[in-house]
Amino acid sequence: MFVAGDGPARVGWRAGDAILDLANAGLGDVFAAHELNPFLALGRNAWEDAIGRIESHLVSGRGPVLPLDDVELTLPFRVADYVDFYSSLEHASNLGRLFRPDADPLLPNWRHLPVGYHGRAGTVVVSGTPVVRPCGQSLSPGADRPEFGPSRRLDIELELGFVVGVGSRRGEPVPVDDFADHVFGVVLVNDWSARDIQAWEYQPLGPFLGKSFATSVSAWVTPLALLAEGRVEAPPQEPEPLPYLAGGRDWGLDVELEVELNGAVVSRGNARGLYWTMPQQLAHATVNGASVRTGDLMASGTISGAERGSEGSLIELTGNGAEPLQLPDGTARTFLEDGDEVVLRGRAGSAELGEVRGRVLPAVCRPGAER
Ligand code: MN
Repeated sequence: MFVAGDGPARVGWRAGDAILDLANAGLGDVFAAHELNPFLALGRNAWEDAIGRIESHLVSGRGPVLPLDDVELTLPFRVADYVDFYSSLEHASNLGRLFRPDADPLLPNWRHLPVGYHGRAGTVVVSGTPVVRPCGQSLSPGADRPEFGPSRRLDIELELGFVVGVGSRRGEPVPVDDFADHVFGVVLVNDWSARDIQAWEYQPLGPFLGKSFATSVSAWVTPLALLAEGRVEAPPQEPEPLPYLAGGRDWGLDVELEVELNGAVVSRGNARGLYWTMPQQLAHATVNGASVRTGDLMASGTISGAERGSEGSLIELTGNGAEPLQLPDGTARTFLEDGDEVVLRGRAGSAELGEVRGRVLPAVCRPGAER
């Protein structure tokens, strides 16, 4: 979605550095909407038909086409519900070791179900939106009581999320094999995380204020249809999951990923190693009878590889702050400083995913909030 001048948000199709203005291309009334949701609700046949017509429209050189630089990008869809999973074996193991050094890094449930939590849909923001450093409670090492103030351990999480187009009915779980009938496409996600707030608050009910202040997504949703050449077999699962989670292994996604911090690439990884696939995540999220709806966003969890330099968060890249990253500008980083800019990038074959960009602004801890 984009805004040109003072007008309302319009649906666009990105082709390199240009945008096809779908609201004015004569390709259907559904594109006159000011958000993608009505189109998302139409379903797979309509999606594939529209993509075919858009591509032939572009091949024949028809417009209207606008330069990417001339528009402001906006949130591409109205986010209904937001779920974040924890599907990278390497990330879950790395964090388990950091947060619970004396225990088995993987909790007993991890290999049996895609662990997740419900996040805050209302604070999902589009790429380019600045992120204000959050304030909150944390417990300093050795302290016997928490203090209130700006997070000192602001981090990123590199993730891939899927966007639900066609909802499901309450009481009717979505089988693994029906994934592509419900899901339109994917976005890159930066799940900004305040590690100090998170570490103090997360037990026993999981992430809360350490995550809910902002989650950034790309301004472009890449349709599943354009990821066909990136589909690969996901890694083997041991033990075999329960029958409702069996299958969906042909939805590994060979998406090359990159994290850039202040202009320097600090991590390179790939989404193909994720232990739980998107169809398994959707099947799990609905197996209890919960329904999904148009605009639901479900993110993978941080994508980390086994090699050094392929981790999707600073807490992992820096060994919990013990090994700072040396940046080419001569500075070093453990966690994010005010003014830092992070860009996430992804590519699946010839399809480049929309980037996720965000700059950290200084905290504004409201007077009185600590009383
Ligand atoms: Mn996350």
